[in-house]
Amino acid sequence: MAENIQDKVIVITGASSGLGEAAARLLASQGAKVVIGARRADRLRALATEIGIGDEGFLVTDVTNRSDVQALVDRAVSLHGQIDVILNNAGLMPSSYLELLKVNEWGRMVDVNIKGVLYGIAAALPHMIARKSGHIINVASVAGHKVNPGGSVYAATKHAVRVISEGLRQEVAQHNIRSTIISPGAVATELRDTITDPTVAEGMRKGYETALPADAFARLVSFAIAQPEEVALNEILFRPTAQVS
Ligand code: NDP
Repeated sequence: MAENIQDKVIVITGASSGLGEAAARLLASQGAKVVIGARRADRLRALATEIGIGDEGFLVTDVTNRSDVQALVDRAVSLHGQIDVILNNAGLMPSSYLELLKVNEWGRMVDVNIKGVLYGIAAALPHMIARKSGHIINVASVAGHKVNPGGSVYAATKHAVRVISEGLRQEVAQHNIRSTIISPGAVATELRDTITDPTVAEGMRKGYETALPADAFARLVSFAIAQPEEVALNEILFRPTAQVS
């Protein structure tokens, strides 16, 4: 189905590592015109060079800053004339027990995982409505379906992503805009590096012993995009086969 990916203009946030990086690599290899954003310029530049999108194909972007996200989408539109897909992927997971009062980390999760996704929607939606075409893919998590001790705030942000995405789906169907929620289980990325609570970090280490490679995520993104225009693959939940919870 790569024909429905060829030449699509796809904006990816959080593309400097992990899932976003893998998605950028695969989609570019399938002929998409990928435009990538994150905060780490060196990582973006290296990836942009590798996948052949050059310096114009990336923009340093902090998704907690609405104007940064707007500039990323505007870059895609000015380079390629349109935006077909936005993959709102940037996120972090400094999970901790609430009694530790890591209030700053709670705030960062709200800012990146929820507001960052909203800013991506805000930047892309007007272009998509104007063209009556587009696809918004938001990255949630298994934690968007359930909550465990130590994961309250992260799970709350990922539940929020699913709720926002479902509301979006209902609202934009009339504009011929597709929406997809992708909820990964354990995937081997840098995500766990953001955990500062040693108890949670240790529990998570065990849970990630069977983590999947990031390419597993990339293939599902590609699969969702490659569906015919009249098919909206609204929700994907995937785990390593060996992951129980
Ligand atoms: P990584 O830590 O490897 O990647 C996170 C990405 O988000 C990086 O590119 C990082 O780039 C970017 N990012 C973080 N903060 C910001 C910010 N303020 N502005 C812009 N970009 C930012 O983790 P993953 O690839 O695993 O995470 C991607 C998504 O997948 C997240 O939403 C995560 O919650 C979700 N997820 C991951 C799972 C897993 O097991 N790996 C499971 C379920 C969901 P930079 O630091 O350069 O800004």
